Amino acid sequence: MFESLGNKLQDILDKLGRERQLTEAQVKASMREIRMALLEADVNFTVAKDFVARVGEQAVGQQVLGSLNAGQTVVKLVHDELVQTLGGESAQPSLEKSGNVWFMVGLQGAGKTTSAGKLAAHYKAKGRRVLLVAADTQRPAARDQLEVLSKQVGVPVLKVADAEAPSETRRRIEEHLARDPRDLVIVDTAGRLQIDEVLMDQLAALKAELAPTETLLVVDAMTGQEALNVAQTFDARIGVSGLIMTKMDGDARGGAALSARTVTGKPIYFAGTSEKISGLEPFYPDRVAGRILGMGDVMALIERAQAADLKAMEAKKPGDFDLEDLLTQLRQIRKMGPIGDLMKMIPGMSRALPEGFAIDEKQLQRIDAMISSMTVKERRNPKIIDGSRRKRIARGSGSTVQDINKLLKMHEQMKEMMKMLQKMSGGGGKGMRMP
Ligand code: GDP
Repeated sequence: MFESLGNKLQDILDKLGRERQLTEAQVKASMREIRMALLEADVNFTVAKDFVARVGEQAVGQQVLGSLNAGQTVVKLVHDELVQTLGGESAQPSLEKSGNVWFMVGLQGAGKTTSAGKLAAHYKAKGRRVLLVAADTQRPAARDQLEVLSKQVGVPVLKVADAEAPSETRRRIEEHLARDPRDLVIVDTAGRLQIDEVLMDQLAALKAELAPTETLLVVDAMTGQEALNVAQTFDARIGVSGLIMTKMDGDARGGAALSARTVTGKPIYFAGTSEKISGLEPFYPDRVAGRILGMGDVMALIERAQAADLKAMEAKKPGDFDLEDLLTQLRQIRKMGPIGDLMKMIPGMSRALPEGFAIDEKQLQRIDAMISSMTVKERRNPKIIDGSRRKRIARGSGSTVQDINKLLKMHEQMKEMMKMLQKMSGGGGKGMRMP
């Protein structure tokens, strides 16, 4: 999802990349292209129009920030606007200590039952005691499907009978809870292929009886704008508190997900990302925006880099970055937060880093001690540190040879990071796109 939109946006912004200044004509041309890209991705017309109006307004007359170039400056504006359009802060369904009843609604095939199972697994893993309720009073097969999922997840399931009255369903749930206390009851309801008046009445009646704390509408992202029309109808008839957008792993153009917040006024709580039970992710607008623009969490990195003083780092050629510099830089980087976190924000870096890579204050002191135990010559050229010197340095600094090895390896990785940071700050002239 979002792939072709992302590629287009990146191309548009790349074109601006090399400029040092933003002219009104340039901004206008780019905004026109961005609007086209959004519409091609099936983003709602008004949403697309307002989107470029806001970005354009901010871009004209925008000072190109520090070492950033025009493309990077507009990337930041586009990114921030994407985050807002996707809902700003990430939103999660309300969850009290007990008494949580979540009502799952949606059209047949949207992924309602699957999502009920996924939610059960997600919250069971968080230590919740979940009860699944299969409340489709018409389709035994739908109830069986939920039963299979409940076994897979390892939570109990309560199946309604054919044509069971809502008051009876409530009574049976209460009876179950009296016997087997559960703090989160997830109710999977009936769906239809299309909006259906009779179904809406039934759902409204069951909702009135069960008084759920959340009403989650499951929408299929692959169905595009139509999904949002459906959402509006469900909200008007039944009342919806948040959305679960399924099939985000598909190759749909993403317009529904991008427009959902604005069109329906409801937050996307979760994204379904596969058919598997584990394929459910809390929806983080900033991460999604980052992914659309193909830059991992680089925005956060840029912001932190701006906050900390990276001038010294930029002054040096990355290849020349030695252990003496490492010592100085580590102290500066500490201002930016844990280095492990920082490096993980670089796309691809989280995979490149060894498991459990993190540096805390204590480790920092140890690194200080290790580097201090080296000769200046060694610090300037760590390649000359051989096995016997590693042993000696380890003893001198109260650490082990493995620690020294780790430090030297980390230094190599930092050199890589420096190179990337330099590229990002404009040195590479390739805009923001990471290799
Ligand atoms: P319901 O009728 O709304 O209960 O829909 P189901 O839960 O039966 O799902 C319909 C189909 O969509 C099934 O084949 C699911 O495996 C599939 N499905 C549901 N969610 C996702 C998802 O996030 N990604 C993918 N790829 N398939 C999904």
